[in-house]
Amino acid sequence: MKKGIGLPVFPGVAIGPAVVYRKAQRTLPIPSGDPAVEKAKFSAALETARAQLTALFEKAKVEIGEEQAAIVEVQLLMLDDLDYLDGVNLAIEGGAAAAIAALDTGEEFAQVFAAMDDEYMNARSADIRDMSHRLYDILCGNTGFQLPEGSFLLVAEDLAPSETIQLPRERIMAFVTRQGSSSSHTAILARTLNIPSLVQSDITFDAAEGCQILAVDGFTGTWYADPDEETLAMLRAKQAEAAAARDALEAYRGKESITKSGKKVLLVANIGCPEDAVDAIKADAEGVGLMRSEFLYLGRDSLPTEDELYEAYKQVAETMGEKPVVIRTLDIGADKQVDYLGLEAEENPALGLRGLRICLTNEEIFRPQLRAIYRASAYGNLHMMFPMVASVWELKAAKALCARVRKELEDEGYPTKDVPIGVMVETPAAAVLANELAKEAAFFSVGTNDLTQYTLAVDRQNAKLGEFYDPYHPALMALLAHIAKAANDNGIWAGICGELGADPRMQEKFIEMGYTELSMAAGRILESRKLVCESDV
Ligand code: PEP
Ligand code: MG
Repeated sequence: MKKGIGLPVFPGVAIGPAVVYRKAQRTLPIPSGDPAVEKAKFSAALETARAQLTALFEKAKVEIGEEQAAIVEVQLLMLDDLDYLDGVNLAIEGGAAAAIAALDTGEEFAQVFAAMDDEYMNARSADIRDMSHRLYDILCGNTGFQLPEGSFLLVAEDLAPSETIQLPRERIMAFVTRQGSSSSHTAILARTLNIPSLVQSDITFDAAEGCQILAVDGFTGTWYADPDEETLAMLRAKQAEAAAARDALEAYRGKESITKSGKKVLLVANIGCPEDAVDAIKADAEGVGLMRSEFLYLGRDSLPTEDELYEAYKQVAETMGEKPVVIRTLDIGADKQVDYLGLEAEENPALGLRGLRICLTNEEIFRPQLRAIYRASAYGNLHMMFPMVASVWELKAAKALCARVRKELEDEGYPTKDVPIGVMVETPAAAVLANELAKEAAFFSVGTNDLTQYTLAVDRQNAKLGEFYDPYHPALMALLAHIAKAANDNGIWAGICGELGADPRMQEKFIEMGYTELSMAAGRILESRKLVCESDV
């Protein structure tokens, strides 16, 4: 048995096989310098890609549905596209290695498709890119990430949101990462999925790959590779205890979240995708306090269309019914990067073009999202809020665009409802300006993860700064009290949607400060309701 430690980000015990996630490492094969050899390599890669895509097509038809299967089918057809094949051969004859010829020709074609004045052809640009990347990977000998059948514990150096989005969530029993922090998105996903997880762990890939069974104790922050009988028995007992505690919380299902002195709080869920809304209902959430809508933009090769966004928001609105749903508009940037936007690399991305800044400077990105939200508003109780606001003018500019979009939709005959517009308070500037912003906003929702990062000037992603990332810092507490007071003085409601919203050390304090909504991973709702109902504040 080997064991080690990590920083626990969600309690519980998981026991099962380990899978190591390694980032794709592409090593370019040395070019032979002989076009005939490169052409032969390319032909062989075409055959491999054909076999892979055919298998994927059959799987997609059964497991994911016709629509996804059709995407795979398009790529299969593209493998036979004579223009593409000629382009690759020409590049090879010009001296390029097969891998580069496949990739560059694919990119050229993708750009041509993207520039066409036709939505269908534009969407094909992502397909051709995907297909040429597949050929490139095959030619570089990169076999990709192989997942076993069944459930497993995932071990990784770190996971970017664009990587976690592609994982089969229902099969992951735990995350164990060597990097990451308690407010990183892997940690947030672990809480959303209700799975015990460790970040900043000392696990080695050798230990994980060399063991039959990996166990994670999310209560103590310990991992065990091939635990001995005694340890296994101890872990199983803990698992049973945790299950019994979960059962006991069922007594709070369906109850009102109200303190003994009569203070009513809305306990709502943080979600990333429409399927999470189903889990929020199962967990007895009283609404959605934060839909991280950027997850609809991650893990793909092109912007989602207005219709795709609309379908996703409509699904959430319908799932939640009359319960309020707060959609946070696109919060791309910093740790959540998408290649297809073609944004330049930044020296300091956390302080760069992110959140509302991207939306205000790229209306062609923002407008479809706003249109989708207003179109979906007819189906439920939607609210929206903007991330990374630092100035009143930003809120005013975004609101003005919302008004134009709504008018435009009504002129086009779409039914829309009023969508209350709030501010995510997550920059110190927004916190200090809370009184001014409250005059323009319908509500506040405090993003304590970023507010901590920006107030203390501590990178939330940097594992080395753990002890300096202190969400209980008196400076934070002063800002949080000020925000709640400003909201109450101006007659609007305020909630907390950062990780602190689920923190049992803080929840009573937040209620005392005047917050009336706490948004958290769905799995934390019932225990939070217990705390609220037993509280005297
Ligand atoms: C926050 O910053 O607290 C927040 C909720 O947003 P995110 O974690 O997605 O940045
Ligand atoms: Mg944030």
